[in-house]
Amino acid sequence: MEVKMSRRALIRGLAAGTVVPFAASGCATNPATGRSQFMLVSQGQLAKLSASAWSDVKAETPVSIDPGLNRQLKQVGGRIVQAANLQNQNWEYAVFDTDEKNAFVMPGGKVGFYRGIMEFSENNDQIAAIMGHETGHVTARHAAERYSQQVAAGVGLQVANVALSQKDNRYKGEIAAILGVGVQFGIILPFSRKHELEADKLGVDYMYRSGYDVRQSVRLWERMAADSGGRRQPELLSTHPSPETRVRALDAYIRQRGYV
Ligand SMILES: [Zn+2]
Repeated sequence: MEVKMSRRALIRGLAAGTVVPFAASGCATNPATGRSQFMLVSQGQLAKLSASAWSDVKAETPVSIDPGLNRQLKQVGGRIVQAANLQNQNWEYAVFDTDEKNAFVMPGGKVGFYRGIMEFSENNDQIAAIMGHETGHVTARHAAERYSQQVAAGVGLQVANVALSQKDNRYKGEIAAILGVGVQFGIILPFSRKHELEADKLGVDYMYRSGYDVRQSVRLWERMAADSGGRRQPELLSTHPSPETRVRALDAYIRQRGYV
């Protein structure tokens, strides 16, 4: 489900009062992508929603106490965070003790990797590829962007207001889905093709800057594609773009940047 809205429809919505912008709304150029984005939610508001979704996920999913896995995630995660220049946030990490091949990074610095994806990864470079990709979604502000699109379309307005007032948690699944962790609550909201490709590119930028082998990202996506067919579609294997398109685009980008 991706909601798009034309400028005209948005202005109509604003005039009719069906679209209510939040405090920090407007267009801004994203420093990570250089792309102009229309935002109806501030980073602070999104971090607040993330913090609450993070508590929900932790409360509803077994958390692994395996010291090796936890150490590995923190080590790799910390290096990627540094490369993305996000070290000033309050980062929290959790390895969830389920077989799912899935992972997420939420705005505000919440990192969740499932044991399944940790075990599936052949080395730290592949963990870094996943961490880099998910962090790319954050620096490119993809959650904020699709949140804004939904609010602009009137879909998320009530959801957003309720969630921000935190008076009840009726919509926690919807909010979690926008933040990329909805699979926990049975709601999957894939990122768009554009968002996936952006996150892939930023991901290998962060891998390269932190000294990981960027070719392992290509190998990871190839292995993920070969392995798909599970019950739940992992965020990492969004339906867009197709695995072949993705691998080709990533490979071309790595060469173009001179990373290999
Ligand atoms: Zn993604």
